[in-house]
Amino acid sequence: MGAGGNMSSPAAKNGEKKSHLQRVPSAKPPFTLGDVKKAIPPHCFQRSLIRSFYYLIKDLIIISITYYIAATYFPSLPYPLTYLAWPAYWVIQGCVGTGIWVIGHECGHHGFSDYQWVDDTVGLILHSAQLTPFFSWKISHRRHHANTGSLENDEVYIPRFKSKLRWYYQYLDNPVGRVGVLAFTLLFAWPLYLVFNISGKKYERFTCHYDPNSPLYSERERLQILISDAGVLAATYVLYRVALAKGFTWLVCIYGVPLLIVNGFIVLITLLHHTHASLPHYDSTEWDYLRGASSYGRQRLPVC
Ligand SMILES: [Zn+2]
Repeated sequence: MGAGGNMSSPAAKNGEKKSHLQRVPSAKPPFTLGDVKKAIPPHCFQRSLIRSFYYLIKDLIIISITYYIAATYFPSLPYPLTYLAWPAYWVIQGCVGTGIWVIGHECGHHGFSDYQWVDDTVGLILHSAQLTPFFSWKISHRRHHANTGSLENDEVYIPRFKSKLRWYYQYLDNPVGRVGVLAFTLLFAWPLYLVFNISGKKYERFTCHYDPNSPLYSERERLQILISDAGVLAATYVLYRVALAKGFTWLVCIYGVPLLIVNGFIVLITLLHHTHASLPHYDSTEWDYLRGASSYGRQRLPVC
């Protein structure tokens, strides 16, 4: 049985015009993974080191220029203008920072270049700078792609059965409750997932992306978790030195708020991607890779 989705959408029931809640096709696809690969033009599988670095450097230049303008000119702005200038700075840095994070995600998929060591090095630097443990998340994220849409084995955004919802959910199902949950989710869901595995697959004990002994990882993966932690610790130390030199408020304005926007975008993109009411999820009697992956319009192939 494909769980999830809104099977009782009134529009769907009454045969009215299609609702956004109507279930996307959940039958076994009439094509194979090989068919999908063959339909994609060959140049889409070619990785270009130069093109990838072009996009990365372009983003870094925008971030640097925006930072330079803020650091040089914002302190001398008249008061009312600072209330316009800082939000503009946060929006620009948050949006471009999300692009940087996504390039790190591509590195995790070995999509940045043909060289695994380049992808791992670039990904480790970019994600550490945004306090994401690169290898730790790369490993759990790979397992998510391998089990997308599976009720038992997917790593994130596994829908709960109605019977398993906590008692307080009934009080959140109203406009105020929904806005509150959405705001909390956008602000805190990403760090809470990394630290406490909130919304993640249930494991037999405490699960944390920063813990090398977490049940998320096998014995041979534990060193990679330590390297990821070292990257995040190094970035935290740099931020600590910045706070000492320029003040905590400065750090929050220059780095903290843009990071919150990046975190919000990561959650927003994945939330929309995986929790839409029309998306089916499958238990082990029906799930297979192609069926789970093809539920999602943007789902990537394992070679990408
Ligand atoms: Zn991915």
